[in-house]
Amino acid sequence: MKKTKIEWCDSTFNPVTGCLHGCEYCYARRVAQRFAGYDLNGGVTTNCPLPRAELTEPLAVTWKNGKTVQAPYPFGFEPTLHRYRLEEIQRWQKPRTIFVCSMADLFGEWVPDKWIEEVFAACEKAPQHRYLFLTKNPFRYEQLHQKGILCKSDNMWYGYSATKDGYDFWFDSQYNCFVSVEPLLGLLGIVDTKWVIIGAETGNRKNKIVPQKEWINTICNIADNMHVPVFMKDSLIPIVGEENMRREFPWGKS
Ligand code: SF4
Repeated sequence: MKKTKIEWCDSTFNPVTGCLHGCEYCYARRVAQRFAGYDLNGGVTTNCPLPRAELTEPLAVTWKNGKTVQAPYPFGFEPTLHRYRLEEIQRWQKPRTIFVCSMADLFGEWVPDKWIEEVFAACEKAPQHRYLFLTKNPFRYEQLHQKGILCKSDNMWYGYSATKDGYDFWFDSQYNCFVSVEPLLGLLGIVDTKWVIIGAETGNRKNKIVPQKEWINTICNIADNMHVPVFMKDSLIPIVGEENMRREFPWGKS
């Protein structure tokens, strides 16, 4: 079981890793680069044989301490399908809320439909779980919907990321749609959605932006008017205070 520190899910599942969006504040890229590489010809390399790599079997990597392990990010943050991971969620018998591809944008325009279909198929084979997806490219949801590929199932939740006004959004009442405002970088309004997550930028990035209380209140007021639950990440505690934290889920208590 891949336990996670992400507060709004129980576990993560990463059959696809890597992303080409290039967000400055990207935590996933930092982790992938730190643990990048695989063993090749007696050394460790991150050379990727193809622009999009598909791995049926895991590669190995030998760390500086001499330990050889399964390479978590053999090609760093280059988009990679780890096909050998697809069945792991079937082995998790207890129902979980799972963030799918926390280390990628599964719906980035560079991701082949086939990869997405393989991930959906894996999720359908483990229907005991709830699956949360997130993208910065919500237009892809619409494209997949038009092609009849987007899974229409009660346990699938399709999210998109927004950080400040001007973001792309997507809503279709046939699906569970949500918005993750994380990190909140400016004043922003939200539109039709079934759930809102809000979080501040974390880490030590030099140009880190601390959200203003007014930005958070604006989002909460709109959500309240729409009767939509709000989940605030712990990174907001210093701004709103523990007593004002909201940890609401659209499916009831987590
Ligand atoms: S979309 Fe997400 S994974 Fe991709 S670069 Fe931005 S923060 Fe990182």
